[in-house]
Amino acid sequence: MSISHLSHPYQGIKAVITTQHAKEKLVAPALTRLGIELIHHNFDTDSLGTFSGEIPRTNPQRETALQKARIGMKATGLNYGVASEGSIGADPLVPFINSAIESIAWIDDAIGLEIVEFERGTEVVAVKTEVSSIGELDDFLERADFPRHALIVYPTSKNGPIYKGLRDLVALEDAISTVIKNGKAIIESDLRAHMSPSRSEVIERCAEKLAYRLAQLCSECGAPGFGTVGNVYGLKCDLCGEVVRRAIRGEIQGCAKCDHREEKLNGKTEVSAAQCERCNP
Ligand SMILES: [Zn+2]
Ligand SMILES: [Zn+2]
Repeated sequence: MSISHLSHPYQGIKAVITTQHAKEKLVAPALTRLGIELIHHNFDTDSLGTFSGEIPRTNPQRETALQKARIGMKATGLNYGVASEGSIGADPLVPFINSAIESIAWIDDAIGLEIVEFERGTEVVAVKTEVSSIGELDDFLERADFPRHALIVYPTSKNGPIYKGLRDLVALEDAISTVIKNGKAIIESDLRAHMSPSRSEVIERCAEKLAYRLAQLCSECGAPGFGTVGNVYGLKCDLCGEVVRRAIRGEIQGCAKCDHREEKLNGKTEVSAAQCERCNP
């Protein structure tokens, strides 16, 4: 489905994207197709917290993304702002794997909208090891997909410099040699977007989702951003007929501006007895 709309209300508007690490290159193509012109506002987003844990992230991800978008809007005076925020850690659904949860916030102060889209990616390369000599690296560099993915090196004691963005074997070995003079070294994936192509892909998918959502206009008030806001629950057990409350019957789609809601049912009417609490407690 095409998401270019000549009559879209965002055709020709200017929006500010607050980023560093060249993330605007990942987000811009999707939004440009809606006719939005993106102005880049460079901001040291590390001051809001970083992946290497030097500054604790105090805000939940959604709030941080919105906060970043507001920073660029304040600096430029524009009514429209966008920013992304990611987190990488233990996957919420699949045990023993890491995943990225990327979010992109869109703010429209002209009509009063705040939309944050999320995208999960389990393919992100996020590995870590601890060594006391270069010889202990073994297959780590292969698992780290080095040098396509950059690495970070720092002392286990946390007292000492952090070497970031290492993408060259000589620089990596130099960093490790320096750090291990005073103990062990931790080597881990540099997860900043421009250093991690596997993470970049998740951000690009998230931008596509946001653009798709913004392209959908509310049939009642015309506001952009009509999309999924929740689920419709409740299917009958195919054995006993009892309603299984957590079984999903469809989506609730809603407007981000007005109260307009629509149910989009998935066509299912029954659920297997295996999911029924009466038949399979
Ligand atoms: Zn049942
Ligand atoms: Zn509406």
